[in-house]
Amino acid sequence: MIRVTIVFIGLLVAASPGWAEDWQEMVADRTAAATDRVVALRHDFHASPELGNREFKTAAKVAMRLRELGFDEVQTGIAYTGVVGILKGDKPGPVVALRADMDGLPVTEKTGLPYASKVTTQWRGQESGVMHACGHDAHMAILLGVAEVLSGMREQIPGTVKFIFQPAEEGTPPGEEGGADLMIKEGVLTGEYAPGAIFGLHVFPFTPGALGYRPGGMMAASDGLYIKVKGVQTHGSMPWSGVDPIAVSAQIINSLQQVVSRQIDLTNAPAVITIGSINGGNRGNIIPEEVEMIGTIRTLDPQMRLDVHARIEKTVRLVAQASGAEADVEIRQGYPVTFNDLELTAQMAPVLDRVAVGGQAIVGKPVLGAEDFSYFAQEIPALFFGLGVAKEGVGPGDSAPNHSPYFEINDAALPVGVEALSNLALEWLHRAD
Ligand SMILES: [Zn+2]
Ligand SMILES: [Zn+2]
Repeated sequence: MIRVTIVFIGLLVAASPGWAEDWQEMVADRTAAATDRVVALRHDFHASPELGNREFKTAAKVAMRLRELGFDEVQTGIAYTGVVGILKGDKPGPVVALRADMDGLPVTEKTGLPYASKVTTQWRGQESGVMHACGHDAHMAILLGVAEVLSGMREQIPGTVKFIFQPAEEGTPPGEEGGADLMIKEGVLTGEYAPGAIFGLHVFPFTPGALGYRPGGMMAASDGLYIKVKGVQTHGSMPWSGVDPIAVSAQIINSLQQVVSRQIDLTNAPAVITIGSINGGNRGNIIPEEVEMIGTIRTLDPQMRLDVHARIEKTVRLVAQASGAEADVEIRQGYPVTFNDLELTAQMAPVLDRVAVGGQAIVGKPVLGAEDFSYFAQEIPALFFGLGVAKEGVGPGDSAPNHSPYFEINDAALPVGVEALSNLALEWLHRAD
């Protein structure tokens, strides 16, 4: 009998629009009340950035704040410095995850802000500044804002919210593993609190408080391309007596561009192959033995990614062979495609529309940069979206981009991020209820 009653109440609650309005309003009120602390946290993180896998002080601050807020569990030291906070609602239900990345970049800050970073470090043998030039300070402050908002409304949470603070999104020190991939290997998506979906955001310099997303491929897979062309060295005046790897490399570069322009269906998704470095030879009258090329491959569709790799390997090998040269091709897999689950995105788009400045989220163009949130999205349904943080009245083209020493964040946009993630978590849990 008790069981029947609970099920009945559950149905009533799920069907009642008044209930949803209650928690939406509560999130809005609690976000407004938390905003000063969110801004203060961001300035604090901004003034003391740390590089990937070295976010020791940052992680300690995050863990301390989650404990202050009365989280049920706070786990530290995951994938070096990662922190996971568990917040249980008053009602049983599934688990939803929210993710923020924590690392800064080896960039010397030039913003002149009162809370600008003065931190320096050794980076690849050279002295360098350290800066939150990608906005991960905002991501952490926003997620701690969500922690504050949701920890005060457990009676509205039918399930558990898992807060993932992830190290090393921008990469690790040489030879170390790290980031989302390592957190997954260490079990962050499995076990007692295995999440059924995950949400994350990234700040970009567009209209403050605007939200942007894209169903399917949102950010690119980024893979490294390493090519070695071996010819036969000879005098520059007698190319017929050797095999010229420079002429062959020129043909390879042109043929690679035709992989994108002639062989893949660009109406499905764009792709980019770039050769960014070419080295061979040391003077004008010697045809060298060998040429080395390094490039990057960007794709937005997991299937197309594999197809493009296969075509690159075939093209390089056969073009070299046709000229009597040999070529080694190595493709080193980087971050996968950041893929927004189509069903989840369709379900959650109204939440983003409701919260976004302007009353509607923007369905944006894909970004050919890469994000290691993609590893989470490979495992469970995921939605990653952009939050605009440009200064008021400054166009996107006039703002310093992410990774610039002049990159700045408009604090007025932060509450929109807090509201968006809080609402997404609640909406998903209530739908699953
Ligand atoms: Zn970045
Ligand atoms: Zn970033």
